[in-house]
Amino acid sequence: SKSFKEISTRDLTTIMEKNRSYYESGKVADYIPELGKMDPKALALAVVDEKGKIHSVGDINKKFTMQSISKTIALMLAVMENGEKTVFEKMGYYGTDKPFNHFANLETMGKPLNPMMNAGAILTTSLISGSGQLPFDKILDMVRYITNNPTLDYSRIVYESEKETGHRNRGMFHIMKNVGLISGGEEQLDNYFRQCSIELTAEDLAKIGYFFAHQCIRFDGDKRYKDAEMSKLIQSQMLIAGMYEFSGEYARTVGLPSKSGVGGGIVVSVPQQGGIGVFSAPLDSHGNSVVGYRMILDLAKQYNLGVF
Ligand code: GLN
Repeated sequence: SKSFKEISTRDLTTIMEKNRSYYESGKVADYIPELGKMDPKALALAVVDEKGKIHSVGDINKKFTMQSISKTIALMLAVMENGEKTVFEKMGYYGTDKPFNHFANLETMGKPLNPMMNAGAILTTSLISGSGQLPFDKILDMVRYITNNPTLDYSRIVYESEKETGHRNRGMFHIMKNVGLISGGEEQLDNYFRQCSIELTAEDLAKIGYFFAHQCIRFDGDKRYKDAEMSKLIQSQMLIAGMYEFSGEYARTVGLPSKSGVGGGIVVSVPQQGGIGVFSAPLDSHGNSVVGYRMILDLAKQYNLGVF
């Protein structure tokens, strides 16, 4: 197989075209009504190689919401501020056989399983300091920094749509208040809804993948947040729970730390090598992009990217 160094837009185009038609076997998320309006045919694939160079094909200017991919950034900030020990006293390092919005053992164990499922992610965001919208602003600023894209913003329409219909998330939030894991008010839950609504492109995702693959060094070499332990923590969480209950099988078939979102994006870190970002809105039954997964699988095989 070829090495990551030889990645070409020609090969990326071949992979994209080979998988394009599979969007028909997925379903665009519509439990958040605004997401249901996404174009099921839009498709993009981007790679940031070892040198930080961007290669991308398809609808590369198409923006979509980050959704659960934002959980990686929130975890980084919560750990930067509180330390890993304090954060993981409140939640587990466990993998999962449950869907992303499951209450899992919140009731029985009194703690979320991990920071990649909704319960743990809502708790993680509540651990970022500051009143009102400030914790969200820190998340947005970090996404802007990592992508070197200061104009990135969140979709007010998707945010309102999530806030209105996010009853399960609100339920988890209140159980965590009940057991004393969360002390703030609902503005903390609003920040979770806002972070899910940050809009970006497949290229932006590839830059995030690169960042966690390279000890939190930015694709252009900026080392402001360099932290090898942080990148190991985030990638390990992506590996065990980033694709939810599909994570184990995904570790077997792809073998790379990855994080999906119900907006149809998936971010992949290729440790020490680079990042991959994909977008295609239709999802499988686990909430992972159908075409996105297939493109990542082909890339991982052709360039021998899996860590095992
Ligand atoms: N905003 C979504 C939710 O909370 C995020 C879930 C996801 O992307 N898997 O339901």
